[in-house]
Amino acid sequence: MALKTGDQYLESLEALDLEAHVLGEKTEQLAEHGLIAPSRKAVAFTYDAAHDSQGRELLRSYSRLCNDEVNRFTHLHESSEDLVTKVKMQRYCGAMTGCCFQRCVGLDAANAVYSTTFECDKKHGARFHNRFSDYWKWIQQEDLVVDGAMTDPKGDRGRRPKDQVDPDLFLRVKERRSGGVVINGAKLHQTGMLNSHEILIMPTMGMRPGEEPWAVCCAVPTNATGVRYIYGRQTSDTRKLEQHKLDVGNPIFGGQEVMTVFEDVFVPEERIFLDGQVDFTGMLVERFASYHRQSYGGCKVGVGDVLIGATALIARMNGVEKASHIREKIVEMVHLNETLYSCGLACSSQGWPTLAGNYQVDLLLANVCKLNVTRFPYEIARLATDIAGGLLGTMPAAADLNDPETGPYIKKYLAANPQYQVVDRMKVLRLIENLIAGAGAVGYLIESMHGAGPPAAQRIMIERQAELEYKMRQVINLLSITEQ
Ligand SMILES: Cc1cc2nc3c(=O)[nH]c(=O)nc-3n(C[C@H](O)[C@H](O)[C@H](O)COP(=O)(O)OP(=O)(O)OC[C@H]3O[C@@H](n4cnc5c(N)ncnc54)[C@H](O)[C@@H]3O)c2cc1C
Repeated sequence: MALKTGDQYLESLEALDLEAHVLGEKTEQLAEHGLIAPSRKAVAFTYDAAHDSQGRELLRSYSRLCNDEVNRFTHLHESSEDLVTKVKMQRYCGAMTGCCFQRCVGLDAANAVYSTTFECDKKHGARFHNRFSDYWKWIQQEDLVVDGAMTDPKGDRGRRPKDQVDPDLFLRVKERRSGGVVINGAKLHQTGMLNSHEILIMPTMGMRPGEEPWAVCCAVPTNATGVRYIYGRQTSDTRKLEQHKLDVGNPIFGGQEVMTVFEDVFVPEERIFLDGQVDFTGMLVERFASYHRQSYGGCKVGVGDVLIGATALIARMNGVEKASHIREKIVEMVHLNETLYSCGLACSSQGWPTLAGNYQVDLLLANVCKLNVTRFPYEIARLATDIAGGLLGTMPAAADLNDPETGPYIKKYLAANPQYQVVDRMKVLRLIENLIAGAGAVGYLIESMHGAGPPAAQRIMIERQAELEYKMRQVINLLSITEQ
């Protein structure tokens, strides 16, 4: 039953009966909730796109794991070409939704767990890989959304998990019971958690001997007993609850992040994929992070396309599109955005087969990609702010536009290029505002900085992969230097 439609996906979420704390209230009506519905629509897009004429080529893939056509968001990459298509798919989804569509984290986690469990089994003689393969085959067949849950609260960053005041600050195995383990802890910032069917939990960093309880990788359904959700706020989020949609900026789609608490959650044996093998936690984290750093060379580029399009349009609406400095700035935005895309494609095209058979991105290039992502969207946003003008931060509300007393003044004084209505100019300004300073900026800017790890994490990886000794050796040979 692979390849669900968006409607079938939304129905399948209803069956989970999830509840969450949102803005101080416990709610079970997630589907209708004004803050949550736009984020569900964004995920539903990843299902519908597999059926539309434009998206199906990118969104569909044949899986050797389940011998069927699957949604690429559940695919285990079987070639470099697959990795390249993944990036193209992400750009497409970002450009069509103008937000984070929330489905890559699970995909990136699955590919990392698949290869790591294979290598772990080879060394330790465990049976994690077969278990995970069976689990993921089911995910593919049912076309499910999986939340990739890596980030622990981490407490005092200067202390190891076992030295924290509270051992739950890193998610851990608290207890062993017959047939499984009990886990305790939390995962912060979880993208699309309440739009997911399953949670794939991974350690937040490489663990050391003595830290076995924290070296756990496992899966639980989102409706498992003991899992609690506290909804994350986004800038200007309550505009989504207001009557006038114009002020939201992105009228249809939105992102979602959730604080997720695991309180004595039982995980059955068949869903445990690492259990104390500290020597494989580093590999898992590194591989997941690299896939996810590749992802941003697609999704953020797609959202960048929306921001560039909106900026070029507002320049035309404002009557400045032909000015040379405006054209130069828009070219600069395109240059930055396409540089990110080039990095996403480059690390994919240099992919290599893991021992398990799925493909891994080039680690150095994926980290270069993400390090650029921590900077370029901010510069693109700065240029958009420059071009759009101050109304971006001072424009009256949609309610005032609709008010018979104030509306005529707004229409009179916000008129610019006569080719466009004032309301449309306001829509474009609100969309730009959404992406650079509103709810969309969580995905486009803050996530660009911190998602898949902050810049320092990429610099560490770049230094590790830089082969400086090899480069020095080349110079030594070139210059015939003799070392004493
Ligand atoms: C919008 C968004 C969506 C996200 N989605 C997901 C998701 O779906 N799943 C998921 O698992 N995670 C997700 N994340 C989490 C993301 O991976 C983390 O935010 C990121 O790894 C940084 O961790 P942190 O937020 O705890 O910041 P910190 O780790 O506290 O980092 C803050 C700063 O402190 C520095 N720092 C931290 N520790 C040390 C140290 N020991 N020594 C020196 N400097 C240090 C960092 O380099 C950085 O500059 C998301 C984050 C965001 C913002």
